Amino acid sequence: MELIDSFNRKHDYLRISLTDRCNYNCVYCNPNHRTVGGKGRENLLSFEEIERLIELFAAKLNFKKVRFTGGEPLVRKDVFNFFSRVGILKQKYGLKIGLTTNGSLIYGRVNELKLKGVDNLNISIDSLKPDKFKWITGKDDLPRLLKVIDEAEKAGFNPVKLNVVVIKGINDNEILDFVERFKDRNINVRFIEFMPFGSNEWERNGFLSFREIKEIVERKFALAPLITGENAVAKDFKILGSPGRVSFISSISEHFCSTCNRVRISADGTFRVCLFSRGEQEVNFKELFRSGASDREIIEALRKAILTKWEKHPGAETLSKQIQNNMMEIGG
Ligand code: SAM
Repeated sequence: MELIDSFNRKHDYLRISLTDRCNYNCVYCNPNHRTVGGKGRENLLSFEEIERLIELFAAKLNFKKVRFTGGEPLVRKDVFNFFSRVGILKQKYGLKIGLTTNGSLIYGRVNELKLKGVDNLNISIDSLKPDKFKWITGKDDLPRLLKVIDEAEKAGFNPVKLNVVVIKGINDNEILDFVERFKDRNINVRFIEFMPFGSNEWERNGFLSFREIKEIVERKFALAPLITGENAVAKDFKILGSPGRVSFISSISEHFCSTCNRVRISADGTFRVCLFSRGEQEVNFKELFRSGASDREIIEALRKAILTKWEKHPGAETLSKQIQNNMMEIGG
């Protein structure tokens, strides 16, 4: 059985937010230092419940990929033990496992993640200047994060992906520095368009489109497009003369909704059919699990919910007024 929406999109990629708490306060993600995570542990899905839902999506709905995100997924207690158990499900169902992290809590442990079965590691890093990094995140962690990136490359993540959210006037003057610094390594710098969430004070004049970012890269580096998978969100480019690659994620200026194969589960167990959806008519796994719903009933609810997925998300100005959305709760 497969999870197919009204526009015939087949879904096989599940992104799970392990927590809505984060140890960073990035200016573009949580600008008001909103205290999220106040919900308390009993309001989050337990690890056992998350394992049940991974098994359900893999065994019953033919899902192939799972990515953990947050908040910061690694602030959750016992998460390394949880990854060991996920490793067993990975083997059983042939899943690909991904993790998106700010990297702050894996210094000295990156190889362990690889051994436990994490296939794809995305590390967020928005500045290469210590003061700017601190200003953006609230933490003085840049030197250690650069060591974590070295560790990830040594551990064999192929490639290590670096997520850089580009905001005009904040870090757009570092675009070339990012490419220069990582171009000769097995590292894929991914420039991400700044997305509005209502809660993050997005402004059009802070926005740089992927074309503008690419044009800046091309002032110094020749790029050749690479063929990407049909559900890829990134536009990938080889840097001519170097082993590295750069990518652009154009969620706003050129959305990729028509090939979207992703669904999400927020930390409190809400099934979300789109990063930008409002959560209406969506399913809550915590409630279903705790009220004793059977797998068949849950799948029925999911199939109904997926039919509410819109063809494409609205434009940036509309999204910026959607005050009920918060990236830390949904999971990026
Ligand atoms: N804490 C983890 C991290 O820092 O990677 C995982 C969660 S974070 C919400 C996931 C990704 O979303 C990060 O790469 C972050 O930079 C990105 N992100 C957050 N807010 C964003 C925004 N408004 N526009 C674009 N990307 C954003």
